Amino acid sequence: MDILHSQLTKIQRQLAFVAVEPINWKLYVQSFSWAVTLFESYLLIRQYPLYSRKEPPKELAEHFEPGVFEKSQNYGKDKAKFALISGLFKQLLDSLMLQFGFYAWSWTAGGKLLAKFGYGPEHEILQSIAFVFILFFLSSIPTLPLQAYGTFVLEEKHGFNKTTPKLFVTDLLKGWALAFGLGAPFLAAFLSIFKWAGDRFVPWLMAFMISFQLVMVILYPTVIQPLFNKLSPLPEGELRGRIETLANKLKFPLKHLYEIDGSKRSSHSNAYFFGLPWSKHIVIFDTLIQQSKPEEVEAVLAHELGHWYYLHPTKMMSISQIHIFTILALFPAFLRAPPLLRSFDFPKAVAAQPPTIVAFLLFQMILTPLEAVVSIGMNAVSRHFEYEADRFAVELQDQLGDEKMADMGERLGRALVALHVKNLSTVWVDWLYSAYHHSHPTLTERLKGLEAFQAQREKKKL
Ligand SMILES: [Zn+2]
Repeated sequence: MDILHSQLTKIQRQLAFVAVEPINWKLYVQSFSWAVTLFESYLLIRQYPLYSRKEPPKELAEHFEPGVFEKSQNYGKDKAKFALISGLFKQLLDSLMLQFGFYAWSWTAGGKLLAKFGYGPEHEILQSIAFVFILFFLSSIPTLPLQAYGTFVLEEKHGFNKTTPKLFVTDLLKGWALAFGLGAPFLAAFLSIFKWAGDRFVPWLMAFMISFQLVMVILYPTVIQPLFNKLSPLPEGELRGRIETLANKLKFPLKHLYEIDGSKRSSHSNAYFFGLPWSKHIVIFDTLIQQSKPEEVEAVLAHELGHWYYLHPTKMMSISQIHIFTILALFPAFLRAPPLLRSFDFPKAVAAQPPTIVAFLLFQMILTPLEAVVSIGMNAVSRHFEYEADRFAVELQDQLGDEKMADMGERLGRALVALHVKNLSTVWVDWLYSAYHHSHPTLTERLKGLEAFQAQREKKKL
């Protein structure tokens, strides 16, 4: 622990200038965030002409019924236009809020709100909660029309939307209630740890964040997801039998096997698993079950179990812990930095003793460029994991010594093609756009990968 703290102290000494120098942080944040948005717009402009191609890639040509490729291209085009406009709109909004001191205003508004209930500024944690919710609530309202447009115009036009206006509103209200119900205690605990641990908050906060994530693993399937979707046990039959046998052979600790009514909102489809190491839940979208044959859904699950076998979720979580640790290690320099708050229009009295939540939020904004780099890295890691899980499915026949699994790769390929075609997913992808945005390799890349894995294992056998 002491080595950790002496290292952290060294970092802080390097960053000591933050507490005294009047740096124009607002200008930095404005420039960074516009740079990121403009870069994302540039990527969309690179990707856009690919939606005008008339033919799918050769490898995929046979899988498209007449007219379907054209449909997927039109869908892609509409989505890209929408992404471009909404990205610029959101950035403009953020930029205006930043420029005109919205953050400082929200802090004061939180204080006034509490004063009405008889709480003074000495209740920093209460004011912090009020501040975050004013900020969150007011800044989410202008983007609601975009969300509604996305659901009721864009997705509707291309035949995916199943959400009714009533469902849209109840989802929204449930989401807000949940954000408050979970967010307020989380924030209170987070800020209390800061107060209590003083300068030694890093390990304590890390421990808190990890515990919170574990609690969410238990709460999400049992409490949160049932608020939005209906999970019902997958009925007895061929599919259930196949998945249970597969899980058994791999010693996957399958506790529950659910079908989820994903089709309630949208006809996009998928499957996933989650849970504690000794008790896992598998969830399959009803749409996937309707679109693919049991042996193909089994292949999708073989891929998912590959993620489990190679500990991909654990690895991803470890990377995110390192990420959180880095952020926390850099933070103290920004915690007591009056010039930082002054630069974002906070009054002198507030800036003299910066509230932790305000400092943390402003610090997060300063990290925008770092976050962009981290997300590119995370996507690259995730794409690597996807290939690894595909290879796992192809090699399952050797691992389990089961001849009947010899065509697992082909089945997975068929399922992926069906998913792609039904979801009208983009098939022509610009490499830079993909490197930045995609957590999965493109369909063509994955089909090529599946073939290569199959060829490699045949070669090994010879
Ligand atoms: Zn995957």
